[in-house]
Amino acid sequence: MRVVQDISHISYLQCSKCNQSYEVERINTFSTCCHKPLLAKYEFLTEISKHELKERESSMWRYFEMLPVLNKENIISLGEGMTPILPLQRLGDLYGMPNLWLKDESLNPTGSFKARGLSMAVSKAKELGVDTCIIPTAGNAGGALSAYCARAGIKAVVVMPSHTPAVFKQECKFYDAELILVDGLISDCGRKVAEIKKERDCFDVSTLKEPYRIEGKKTMGYEIAEQGNWELPDVILYPTGGGTGLIGIWKAFYEMQELGWIDDKFPKMIAVQAENCQPIVETLNGSQENARNYKGKASLANGLAVPNPFGEDLILEILQESNGTALGISDMEMINGVKDIAKHEGTLIAPEGGALLKAAQKLIDNHFIRPDEKILLLNTGSGYKYLENMI
Ligand SMILES: *Cc1c(COP(=O)(O)O)cnc(C)c1O
Repeated sequence: MRVVQDISHISYLQCSKCNQSYEVERINTFSTCCHKPLLAKYEFLTEISKHELKERESSMWRYFEMLPVLNKENIISLGEGMTPILPLQRLGDLYGMPNLWLKDESLNPTGSFKARGLSMAVSKAKELGVDTCIIPTAGNAGGALSAYCARAGIKAVVVMPSHTPAVFKQECKFYDAELILVDGLISDCGRKVAEIKKERDCFDVSTLKEPYRIEGKKTMGYEIAEQGNWELPDVILYPTGGGTGLIGIWKAFYEMQELGWIDDKFPKMIAVQAENCQPIVETLNGSQENARNYKGKASLANGLAVPNPFGEDLILEILQESNGTALGISDMEMINGVKDIAKHEGTLIAPEGGALLKAAQKLIDNHFIRPDEKILLLNTGSGYKYLENMI
């Protein structure tokens, strides 16, 4: 066990399956005991008051005690986090959802919430002395890794499907990353990363195969609570690819409960996927035992084209525990969702976010949620990177 630090209250890393502990002082990936994600555990030995937050900086780093960076000098930040939660009044009136909200992650650096996870992972990589990071990506994570590595003076290697729209490739090149294209989906990129790692010394920051991206993404959970005056919504709809955000938000709720910041009324968590690639929906339906051999197709929402999510067990646990569910949305429906939100609310979001509006309508239609519940759509990215393909 560690002594309390001025900054982080992190204590150890824990295997998400068998609870075996791993030290935070060294470079870790996933658990070697069960081959599952590692989760950071904190020990709040001194009281941390939520009222102190008001005076803090307007970024995700305002929650530094609950984050894993030990020395503030290692923080690599471009101002990520503290994105607005907007009421969708006009759209809510139109569709009979009087309590509809959008947390808009499109305002993050590099245009997606991937900034949160990669700001954290790159900060920790710097703290632990890493000099090259590698990532398999469907698009947004590659851009975010490239940007934060540029700022940290770390080399970035990005492996991306060749069919990804040009803008996602170009941004990586601007940030001076090495870009490698692969025919296939992110899972094929993952195999390429494994090959490259045999030849070159690089640190793999694949989703949940490194313990800290999730610590960045969990700050969305802290913000949802703080911005909602410490009351959580009834339902959160989350566009789920690898599931890091969903798992992170849920983790944040438990941490805040332990801190005494919120009560035990947690929202229903809804995993929204692309019909073209909906492994979680299929496992939840019982049409497959797990997603290990699921074959998905590409989607306009490239962030959702993740056929074999490494964190599947954790995602399913959360859906069950929260009385949530999972559903798939077609690419066409996503585009309509994006257009609806743009037309009535003045914000141009990613198709991953557009899917959420359609999903909420479907869940109301089949009485899974009530129209008067407080419904939060978590839009994960900016529509500007997808514009050409949504017209
Ligand atoms: C990566 C990504 C997702 C999926 O995120 P996970 O937390 O890994 O499920 C959703 N939307 C966008 C825009 C993304 O880039």
